[in-house]
Parts: sequence; structure tokens; C-alpha cells
Amino acid sequence: MYNEIDLDKIDITLGPPAKEPARQYYFIARCREWVRDFEQRNGRVPNSCVTTFGCQMNARDSEKLEGVLKQAGFAAEPDERKADFVIFNTCTVRENANQRLYGRLGQLGRSRKRNPDMKIALCGCMMQEAGVLEKLKKSYSFVSLVFGTHNIYKFPELLSACLDSDRMVIDVWEDTDQIVEDIPSERKFSFKSGVNIMTGCNNFCIYCIVPYVRGRERSRRPEDILREIKSLAADGVVEVMLLGQNVNSYGKTLEDPITFAQLLTEIERIDGLERIRFMTSHPKDLSDELIQVMGSSQKICRHLHLPVQSGSTRILERMNRRYTKEQYLELTEKIRRAVPDISLTTDIIVGFPGETEEDFQETLDIVRRVRYDTVFTFQYSKRSGTPAAVMDGQVAPEVVKDRFDRLLSEVQSISAEVCSVHTGSVQEVLVESVNDHDPSLLTGRMSNNLLVHFPGDASLIGKLYSVRLKECRGFYYLGEGGQIIS
Ligand code: SAM
Ligand code: SF4
Repeated sequence: MYNEIDLDKIDITLGPPAKEPARQYYFIARCREWVRDFEQRNGRVPNSCVTTFGCQMNARDSEKLEGVLKQAGFAAEPDERKADFVIFNTCTVRENANQRLYGRLGQLGRSRKRNPDMKIALCGCMMQEAGVLEKLKKSYSFVSLVFGTHNIYKFPELLSACLDSDRMVIDVWEDTDQIVEDIPSERKFSFKSGVNIMTGCNNFCIYCIVPYVRGRERSRRPEDILREIKSLAADGVVEVMLLGQNVNSYGKTLEDPITFAQLLTEIERIDGLERIRFMTSHPKDLSDELIQVMGSSQKICRHLHLPVQSGSTRILERMNRRYTKEQYLELTEKIRRAVPDISLTTDIIVGFPGETEEDFQETLDIVRRVRYDTVFTFQYSKRSGTPAAVMDGQVAPEVVKDRFDRLLSEVQSISAEVCSVHTGSVQEVLVESVNDHDPSLLTGRMSNNLLVHFPGDASLIGKLYSVRLKECRGFYYLGEGGQIIS
């Protein structure tokens, strides 16, 4: 793996190589030189802060940014106001995300007055949107570096250019067909890791900005994914989360197509790996083959996130989701037959243009019938740049709010019942951390994704541990240990 490359052996007096990822390692070595100079001038190493907005994909991208900064020699600083290099990895799924980012940037601009050498960088989905770059140039000219979602692998090269320049460095691409492997990353947890298996999205749900800012769907080659997971497992990772906007269509665009179910079967064989999770699954692409693999797997976790978005077939059609309420319900029944103890979670948007009270009742009905463990509820956001933003029938904010509140109360009472069914049983948890509020407790995650807090000491972190579930407190359990499973 390039993670083990000896950066000191790279001769930076020679020009950068053309080939990737060697080219990026050359630029990491150049950034190291900059860090050494900084240290000599200031008597300390420079520090950096990576702030992540949005989804798990962005969280995984941020681990790559952190990996590069660490290899370049920056120390991590959690407080962005005190950092020498700050990078915001942005999200743009909801309309107000951009306003919040500008607000945060304005505050940081004021902190920068105390440290004028502070470099501020922006990357991620928002940078891919029309008009954003112009606004940054006009009103936030103190920003040092801007790049998008398609060239994140070039971060070392862009960082080096930004450290050596006083001008705003900008590199935003429309799209790409390139996937560069082996850029270093800094895992947040030693025992679990996200693994990107694909990027982009081809579905164009008409409320969603993702296909416009993340580009077309591209799958990583299975051999690269397997090599990465084997090396993670050898490094102590016991759980992986396979990431993609629609993992069920994995492999379709590869030269030698393979299905997601086939990829999972290969991953299952990796020694040392104990748990496999994945997200997100689009219902229209969830195959019988995948359900069968989930049913027979020893490692795939008993949890499926299956966004429904609405319970009304009429609204689903308007959203371009390409399944009906009945098809979705049949699918959940089929999954439950194959994997009876599976926990289902979902995303629902309330107040999509044209949604009537009748449509909303269909959504309440699907929630009552599927009985989800958890529902992520969203008020429809009129995301500019998406076709839905100019659709007729935008629902009045007070109506959206009222439906949202009714949905939330239904969801909460059902999930309290559904989640509590495990009370008294002994479950395997992966111990993740010391509890935030009570240091005598540990927090672990069950296969079905529910959290359990139980007494124990930090030496258990990263271990699979059996815990008896004493009491359900809505969305989590209090438990008692237990013994180490592995
Ligand atoms: N690819 C995933 C899928 O198909 O479910 C999820 C991607 S999206 C970033 C995550 C969730 O954000 C979606 O499932 C949807 O519920 C919500 N979302 C996307 N656009 C939205 C909008 N304009 N307003 C409200 N919620 C939105
Ligand atoms: Fe957005 Fe639909 Fe693609 Fe998910 S599948 S990212 S909701 S367009």
C-alpha cells in the first residue's frame, strides 16, 4: 500500500511524476518541506482542522483529507479558530446548508484577523454548484483553496499549491471518469472503517442535488475494494461500512460487471473481518440475489437502511423513485422472510410538491405497516438546481410542519415498541467508545445498529462483546456484561 511509502525518499528537487498516485505522494513530500520550514520559523508544527458537513460519504472523504494532512506533518486541532489550516468539507442537500456555511465562513474570517497566516480551504458538494465560486471570489476572498468532489484525490497537489501561494487556488471539475486508489487516510476508529465502493448517482430523484454535484455513477474495481478491506482487516478493522449513493447498482458500469451480492460474497471470505454494513440501498435495485446473500451471511449486519421517501405511489412517481407503495411493501416482506431479525430504517420527505393530506396518510400507513426501528424524517427543502424546486404545488410551510410533527410522533411511538423487543436477550455488540456522559459506561453497537450502554473499561473498545439487554430507553439500551467474543 502507498500508505507505507517512505516520503523521505522522494526527491522533491525533481519534478512531479505524471502517474497517479505517485504524483500525489510527491506533493505530500513537498508539503512536508513546507511544514519543516514553518516549524523552524515558529518553533512549533502547524496544525489543521477538518470540519465535515453532511453524510457518511463526506465523513469518509474527510478521513482522506486528514490522512494527507497527517502525513504532511500537520498536528490535528479540533478548534477551527485556533488552526493554521482549516478545511470545510461541505454538503448541499438542503437549501439552507449553503447559508449556514457562509455564516460559519464569515465567523472564521473574523478569527483569521487574529491569525492572518491562517489558510482556509473549502471542498465537497457545495463547491460543485453553479454560482458558489463567484460568490466566494466576491465576498470571501480570504479563502485560500477551493476544490470539488471529483478531484479530492488531488488534495496533496492542491494543498501544496495553496501553501506556496497568496492567491485563491481553485480547481473545480464538472465530472470525471477517474478513480485514483491508495491515497492515505486517517481512520477515525481503529476497529471500523467506511469503504467507498462507488461514487456518484444516476437516479435523478427530482428533489435531489446529489447527481448534479457528485456526477455519474462509477464503481471501484472489486479487486481494489477487496485489497483495501484485506489491508484494513490486517490492521485490526473488524467492521466495514460499504458506501455508495445506491450500493444495489454496484458493478453495473464496470468493464467486467459484477453484482453487489457477488461483491458481498467475496468480502465475507476475508479473514479477521467480522461485520459488514452498507448504505444506501435504493429499493428499485434491491435484488433477490442480494436478499438471499443477506439471509445466508454470517457477517452482514442485521440492519437495512431502505429509504422509502413517501408512502404514496402518486408522489413516488412524481419523485421519479421508480417503485410503488405496494412494490416497496412486498420487498420489505420478502426481506423479513429471508432475515427475520432484520431491523429496517428509512428516510422520509414530508411536504414534497403536490403532496395532499391523502398522500400523507399513505406515508403514515406505510410507517405503521413496516414498523421501522428508526426513520430519518426531512421537511421537503426546495433545493435550487433540482427540477422539483420549480414544480407546481409547493406545500405551505405551516402544513409541512404540521405533517412533520404528526409523522414524528407516530414514528417515535412505533420505534419505541419495535426497539424494545430485545429486552432480556443477550446480544453481541462491537464496543465503540467510553460513554460521553458517564465514563463508567461503555457504548457498543448491536448488529441491528442499536446502541447499548453498559459497565466496562476502555480496554474493551474495538472488541466484540456479549451484553445482556436490561432496559430499553427508546432508541438505546442499558445493558450488563458480558464476555469477550473476539
Ligand atoms: N442516496 C441515498 C438515497 O437514495 O436514499 C440518500 C442520499 S440523500 C443525500 C439523503 C436523504 O436526504 C434522502 O434519502 C432524502 O430523504 C433527503 N433529501 C434529499 N434531497 C432532499 C430535499 N430536497 N429535501 C428534503 N430532503 C431531501
Ligand atoms: Fe439522491 Fe435519489 Fe441518487 Fe439518493 S438515489 S442520491 S436520493 S438522486
